[in-house]
Amino acid sequence: MYMESITYHEPSLSNFDLYTFGEGKGPELVITAGIHGVEQTAIYTAYQFIDYFTQHPPKGTVRIIPIVNKPAYFNRDRVSPYDRIDLNRIFPGNPSGTQTEQLAHKIWEVTRNADYIIDLHCCGEHGSTYIMSLYSEYDHQYTLARKLGIENIVHTGGARGQLFLEACHEGQQAMLIEMKGGQPDGVVDVSTADSTFKKLKDLFRYTGNIPSENDVEDKYVQFHHKMTTMKSNRHAFFRPYMSAGTRCKKGDILGMLDNEKVQAPFDGYIAAINRPRYCFSGERMVRIAENNM
Ligand SMILES: [Zn+2]
Repeated sequence: MYMESITYHEPSLSNFDLYTFGEGKGPELVITAGIHGVEQTAIYTAYQFIDYFTQHPPKGTVRIIPIVNKPAYFNRDRVSPYDRIDLNRIFPGNPSGTQTEQLAHKIWEVTRNADYIIDLHCCGEHGSTYIMSLYSEYDHQYTLARKLGIENIVHTGGARGQLFLEACHEGQQAMLIEMKGGQPDGVVDVSTADSTFKKLKDLFRYTGNIPSENDVEDKYVQFHHKMTTMKSNRHAFFRPYMSAGTRCKKGDILGMLDNEKVQAPFDGYIAAINRPRYCFSGERMVRIAENNM
C-alpha cells in the first residue's frame, strides 16, 4: 500500500502561523488575532505589528499569531465550519477533542510563557472600540487599560474559556480589545486599526518590548459595568438616533422602535447600536454598559 497526501491549495487549514521577534531576554508579549475568523480589523492590526517588529526588533520576545482560526477566517465566519465551536469559550482546549478544541490546546501551549497576552477582536461595523476587562478581580487590568488609553473599558460577563480570562486566572497579564469592524463579511475599519496600533505601541513601551526613554503616562479612561443588551420585544423598524462609541445619559433617546422611544436605562457607554433595520422580536438593538465610579 502506498498513500500520499496531496495538498492542492495552500494554506492547509489545520495550522497557524506564529511569528517570533527578539532575542528572548526580557518580557514576552503575545499578540493574537482572528480567534474569530471574520474579525479582520484585529487581523489587520496584528499584521501591522508584524511589519513594525520586522523593521524595529523588540526588547524581550514578541510573538504574533495574526490568524488563529484559519478555517473560520477562510469561511468569513466567527467559528470553524468543522465543528461550529466558539474557540473563545473553550480554552485551555483539549488535545484529543474536535478540530477547534485541538486548536485551543495548541494556542494555550504556545502562550504559556507569555508575560502579556493581547487578544484582538472585533464587535462589528455597527460597533466601537473598547476593552473587555476583568478589573474587579485583577489590579493589573486597571494599569494596562490606563497605559493603553482606549477610553472605554467594559467589565467582562465572565464567560469561562476565553483566552484572556483563563490566562488572567493563570497569573498572566492579558487583555481583550474589541475593535470596530469585522462582522459582517470581514470588513477592516482602517482608521480604527491605525489608532489602535498607535495606542498599543505606547502599551508596549510600558511592557518593555519597545525601547523607551520616558515612562509611559496614564491616560484618561472610564470603567463600566457588564454589558446590557437591549432587544426588540416585537417585529418593528429600529432607527438609531445615537452612535456607537459615544456616552449617553439616562433617558437619552437611543433610537426609535416604530413610534416608541428606546431610552437609555442609565448613564453609560454605547458599545454598539444597530443600523436602521427591521428588527425581529428578540433581536438586539443596542449594547450599552453602565458607568462605574
Ligand atoms: Zn471575537
